[in-house]
Amino acid sequence: MRACVDIGGTKVAVSLAKAGSRELIARQQAPTAKTGDNDAVAMQVMALIDAACAEAGVSVDSLSGVAVASAGPFVLKDGCVELANPNICGGIAGPSRGLPNDWMTALLEAPLRERFGRVRVENDAIAALEAERRWGALQGLDDCAYVTWSTGVGVGLCVDGRALRGKNGNAGHAGHSFVSTDGDAGDDTPALCGCGNVGDVEGLAAGNAIARRFDQSAAELFEAAAAGDAKALKRIDALCSVVGRMLYNLVITLDLQAISLGGSVFWHNQDLLLPRLQAEIDGKLPALTQGVKLIPAGLGDTVGDHAALALLD
Ligand SMILES: [Zn+2]
Repeated sequence: MRACVDIGGTKVAVSLAKAGSRELIARQQAPTAKTGDNDAVAMQVMALIDAACAEAGVSVDSLSGVAVASAGPFVLKDGCVELANPNICGGIAGPSRGLPNDWMTALLEAPLRERFGRVRVENDAIAALEAERRWGALQGLDDCAYVTWSTGVGVGLCVDGRALRGKNGNAGHAGHSFVSTDGDAGDDTPALCGCGNVGDVEGLAAGNAIARRFDQSAAELFEAAAAGDAKALKRIDALCSVVGRMLYNLVITLDLQAISLGGSVFWHNQDLLLPRLQAEIDGKLPALTQGVKLIPAGLGDTVGDHAALALLD
């Protein structure tokens, strides 16, 4: 039996999977721990693993491995991953961020290793890329990416058949790449990202940015667009121009064959978004973009559930 852990800024989920099985069982979930000492998230993960094992009727000692797919960024301390995520660690942006702690990092890998031995931690978008390559829309592709357009914007990259990790496991944070010096989508609200950047992709186009910038939720915006509202459609054109340019930049920088797309914003509105995003790639620098396909995630809205599982053998 193996444990699969999914850590986000909002919630932590743990499931178990038998060796060789894709079936996830004994799922446990809780709001991400943000109070107490900065080992609170690691302690929470261990408590959820204990609860999952109790529900499944297996001994924690019998676990053959623990895989963690977590929102980044990561920092490495003595070779172990700590989280430096601005939605979890209140010390990064300071009191104005309103989080109930002053952590600069949250411990993760070191306490888990001490207890479980075999532990693998990866960025959640990298893990999702692995899942899409093993079971989803990216099977058989050596040069590809997975992009999630959700509350935030996450990217996992694969070049020459190898998922890219980078010096601290942070390769693919293209959601924080700058695409504009101001708000590009026709209003005056600054495109401030949770990371502190103004004018990066997440700050302009992520699900939480839509709500902040347009004074309507992403769901309301897409509902209005689907009903033919001209202002909403114009805003969606602008959002797709931002995200589409990021996709184009990834394609030409890494010479990609295809990009699989998921995340709640994309997944629920793909009929509107997919053609607009593809139009940002088609026809530009044909030597690099001809035949490049944007594909809805093969695992659909279960990519996140499969991400940690894909990190296990
Ligand atoms: Zn950012």
